[in-house]
Amino acid sequence: MRHFADLHFHSKYSRAVSPHMELDGLAAGAKQKGLTILGTGDFTHPLWFKELKNRLQPEGNGFYRLNDASVRFMLTCEVSTIASMPKGVKRVHHVLHAADLDVVAQVNDVLSKKGNLAADGRPTFGKTTPTELVELLMEVSRDIVVVPAHIWTPWFSVFGSKSGFDSIQEAYQDQAKHIFALETGMSSDPAMNWRVSGLDRFTLMSNSDSHSPHPWRLGRECNAFEFGEEQLSYAALWNAVREKDQTHFKYTVETPPAYGKYHWDGHRACGFSCPPEKTRQLNGHCPVCNKPLTLGVQYRVEELADRPQGVVPENAVPFKTLLPLHELLSAVTGKALTTQTVQKTADALIAKAGSELAVLLDLDPNDLTAVAGAFVARAVLDNRATAVSVVPGFDGQYGKPQLSDGQQRLNE
Ligand SMILES: [Zn+2]
Ligand SMILES: [Zn+2]
Repeated sequence: MRHFADLHFHSKYSRAVSPHMELDGLAAGAKQKGLTILGTGDFTHPLWFKELKNRLQPEGNGFYRLNDASVRFMLTCEVSTIASMPKGVKRVHHVLHAADLDVVAQVNDVLSKKGNLAADGRPTFGKTTPTELVELLMEVSRDIVVVPAHIWTPWFSVFGSKSGFDSIQEAYQDQAKHIFALETGMSSDPAMNWRVSGLDRFTLMSNSDSHSPHPWRLGRECNAFEFGEEQLSYAALWNAVREKDQTHFKYTVETPPAYGKYHWDGHRACGFSCPPEKTRQLNGHCPVCNKPLTLGVQYRVEELADRPQGVVPENAVPFKTLLPLHELLSAVTGKALTTQTVQKTADALIAKAGSELAVLLDLDPNDLTAVAGAFVARAVLDNRATAVSVVPGFDGQYGKPQLSDGQQRLNE
């Protein structure tokens, strides 16, 4: 059976997160999207952890269930480390995964000595290096999996232009041996990461980092696994990731990297954005305010890249590029994501296919046309062929999908 897994997002206990990011809202969002494995997010937060303990039932294989919901939960959270290093202050986000609520209780006990876990669903540990974090976690349990989060984003990531390192080894030192997977984040896709040969040994994963259960957020990036009901377990899933075992880890689902909030360089307040080559011509300065531009993910990848575009490393897990359905419908109709026009068409398509991912990946062209008309059908098929262009995002602003003949479609 195909399983789509989204292992990184936040609960209502994190800052700027929807109140619907609680267990029932997540289970409902997962069903609509077509996700069958979800992280819990935020397991370090005392109130959220209490909810997880009270409501989730262990399956005995490292996953947990909520009532009779179709989705399985994996215990996850994201934490932030900040440390003054010889080359400056380093701020890094890490996604943690655990197989057992008792292990999480021990992790929370250890981490509570490093920072205030109740302050935010994504806690911050000052004066803690990535190496120290992994060391502490491995002392609790070797089954904990640490995945550096959205590795290219400027402010809070292992390679970020504002606060990162130049290699995983430099960041995690002697603990780098415990790191085997990396989260590429919205603004980069595997093809961009393949340009950096130092990343070849790692498995690339994708998650939504969503702050709401909206279908155009939760699961917008995710991981496709194939497991029989009896085979599926926390250990089997991570083994497939570690080994890049493509009989079980089939592909990642990516939004176009330009859709991400930090793909290009720019200043949101100045309304200015540009690709890396232009930034270099400008010596990195904004032509509007003259201050240094926020350097995006593409710029940073090019700084560390030692290969041309188009190289596919041996045994790399493949990926599919897909815009969320609501974004596509919004681009077709010219209406906002939350409008009735967009929602009604999305609901009808999801009812036909069973889930949004099934609409995007599987629904037959004749069914697409019958339910939503020829223009929408064409947009969905263009999306499958990665033929929808996106005006690149920058400095915290999402990219904007554009159908080259969008207006014409409306008027046809
Ligand atoms: Zn983060
Ligand atoms: Zn500016």
